[in-house]
Amino acid sequence: MSENKIIDGKEFAERLRARIGVLAGEFEAKAGRKAGLAVVLVGEDPASQVYVSSKGKQTVAAGMNSFEHKLAADASEEELLAVVASLNADPAVDGILVQLPLPRHMDEQKVIATIDPDKDVDGFHVTNAGRLAVGQAGYVPCTPLGCLMLLEDRLGDLKGLNAVVIGRSNIVGKPMAQLLLSANCTVTIAHRHTKDLADLVRRSDIVVAAVGVPEMVKGDWIKPGATVIDVGINRLPPAEGKTKGRIVGDVDYQGAVQVAGAITPVPGGVGPMTIAVLLRNALVAAYAHEGLTLAT
Ligand code: NDP
Repeated sequence: MSENKIIDGKEFAERLRARIGVLAGEFEAKAGRKAGLAVVLVGEDPASQVYVSSKGKQTVAAGMNSFEHKLAADASEEELLAVVASLNADPAVDGILVQLPLPRHMDEQKVIATIDPDKDVDGFHVTNAGRLAVGQAGYVPCTPLGCLMLLEDRLGDLKGLNAVVIGRSNIVGKPMAQLLLSANCTVTIAHRHTKDLADLVRRSDIVVAAVGVPEMVKGDWIKPGATVIDVGINRLPPAEGKTKGRIVGDVDYQGAVQVAGAITPVPGGVGPMTIAVLLRNALVAAYAHEGLTLAT
């Protein structure tokens, strides 16, 4: 099996972050201030705490300001909305991210709707979803944008390719399909009610799996030479005598790697791209807020 079948998202993300670091330095020289990304965390969910801490570190490492706001798990929705409103009004803050999931007593859609769409670097606000759907410039959710970057880096022009996106969530599947459509692919979106999924996948040049079901996409579903992007992050139950289970994607990697032309591993594929693209979106926001042009 050829080594270059593997799409190394970790290495791509490192290069992207290095480029963002240079552009963040240029921004500071031009604007007289650093670009700023604010992250709001409600509660003490361990996985969310790890993500927020990692985002903060990578933001600072890229030469941007990181503002962290932590609220107790029993904070009221009004308190959270007040924090978001203050960040909307703060000129030092270019991007706002509210870490999801929120505690059950909070309405996620209402909170997202409160973020200024021009600071919505996660791209979850309906204004940004609408901009993506009609082909206007806006903020695109980080994970699917990262997938598109990996695909274009590997394949160049995607025009005319058949793509299947498995999963239709607002944060991955739907924006992924929109991005592939904008890149002139012929796109099929699959979900729980899709019939003959294996057959659909067999006809696809590009397969993006964003399902949340461990190793659901089998190797013999893959068209020989196809490019496979595995978004899934699933922890298997621990093997006997172990405390933690292995992390696997939504694709049976061992089977698919034999047939695919290129494939993202899990971990080390799509995962590292998400924060790198978040930093990119925050920097784009900073340039836009100062009326400056970003030379990408
Ligand atoms: P959601 O649970 O929101 O959506 C899953 C989608 O998969 C739904 O549209 C669902 O269909 C579809 N689906 C579920 N089971 C099947 C099935 N058996 N056959 C076909 N379709 C099915 O998940 P997310 O989009 O948020 O995340 C998907 C995966 O990506 C998860 O493993 C998650 O951990 C990972 N992820 C990784 C990120 C990264 O940084 N790498 C970031 C975000 C997510 P239906 O709509 O019909 O219910």
